[in-house]
Amino acid sequence: MYNKSISLFQRAQESIPGGVNSPVRAFKSVGGTPVFIEKAKGAYLYDADGNRYIDYIASWGPMILGHAYEPVVKAIQEKAVLSTSYGAPTELEIEMAELIKSMAPNVDLIRMVSSGTEACMSALRLARGYTGRNKFIKFEGCYHGHADAFLVKAGSGLATFDIQTVPGITGGVSNDTLTCAYNDLTAVESLVAAHKNEIAAIIIEPVAGNMGCILPQPGFIEGIRKICNEEGIVFIFDEVMTGFRLAAGGAQEVLQVDADLVTYGKVIGAGMPVGAFGGKRAIMEKIAPLGNVYQAGTLSGNPIAMIAGYTLLNELKNNPSLYQELNDKTAYLHEGLNQVLAASEIPYVINRKGSMISIHFSEQPVTDFASAAAANNSLFNKYFHAMLKRGIYLPPSAFESWFLNNALSYADLDATIQATAESLAEVVG
Ligand code: PMP
Repeated sequence: MYNKSISLFQRAQESIPGGVNSPVRAFKSVGGTPVFIEKAKGAYLYDADGNRYIDYIASWGPMILGHAYEPVVKAIQEKAVLSTSYGAPTELEIEMAELIKSMAPNVDLIRMVSSGTEACMSALRLARGYTGRNKFIKFEGCYHGHADAFLVKAGSGLATFDIQTVPGITGGVSNDTLTCAYNDLTAVESLVAAHKNEIAAIIIEPVAGNMGCILPQPGFIEGIRKICNEEGIVFIFDEVMTGFRLAAGGAQEVLQVDADLVTYGKVIGAGMPVGAFGGKRAIMEKIAPLGNVYQAGTLSGNPIAMIAGYTLLNELKNNPSLYQELNDKTAYLHEGLNQVLAASEIPYVINRKGSMISIHFSEQPVTDFASAAAANNSLFNKYFHAMLKRGIYLPPSAFESWFLNNALSYADLDATIQATAESLAEVVG
């Protein structure tokens, strides 16, 4: 049933490190062979052996209205014949910036890049350049891409593979990265007091998705906002996952807290390689060519990437009920999973915000990286395979959020709930 994927994985390992171009895809922690995808449409992935899966990763977030969404595909096709890159400005880039500004709060100026990593790396450099300070605070289990400064106590693949320190990153770099537990405002206060006038930025996933889904507790983000105001620290919301997913205005809108800088990725590019960072004018004006904080990109604002993202964002802006539909579907899944998990008597926690959701097999509430890591993640790995076998494609790690897409039908959700009941019986039975 996975014959072609097995032989493709063997072949891939001859030429690609670990057979994959991004580590979590290798299924290393869940074990087994990654399935090689041939195509996707709507809510479904199809692998090289012809198996169909209901997709809960949505390319790790971008495909919020489903795969091969027709308006996006058509826009890309029409644009591609006009050349795939110019390296010179286009009107479309202005339209994209104006559209983002009309949806997202606190974005006076916005610069397009080609990945979430670039967006976060550039926002941090800008915060340092703006404040003249070197250190910054990030939270354990949060992932902000693979720029050196962020690979300290990071989530996602580093949590999955238990990579504590990354060879190749110098002490000089990582010494400027200060970390706290997520949801621990007292720890933030202490770090800031201990490093008075040294901290350029605090960067956070306002709803964390890289240690499973973890919600900010009431007062946590608000408390950091207050500290940043008092201490002249740049507050960066990493909205690579949450941006244009939790709402048109992302986590800033949902949590009603303002960021100074915000980073985007995933949904903003509709599955094309796109990221962006933006924010308050006084800070963004420090970026070259206005200021001396240098940042650039040969493919930044690429026309194919821009038309894909622009088309998707426009749909989201013009049909606000899409968010309600997506949230209703995720709430339905949440409730169904709750029922079968409760009946199974396996300890569990489901965390959810909007269309981000995940299961931790934990007796304790999961509010930070330590509680996520303390869960029964080997059980999650078995559950993952039992679900895959039943045609449900979950993220291959408990340290990742699931992302729902609006192409999912209620029948798909029912099938997922039913598969969970069967899978739990199989893995504990
Ligand atoms: N920030 C967050 C919150 C992310 O989830 C990710 C990717 N999962 C990134 C940054 C990095 O984005 P990219 O993989 O596009 O470089």
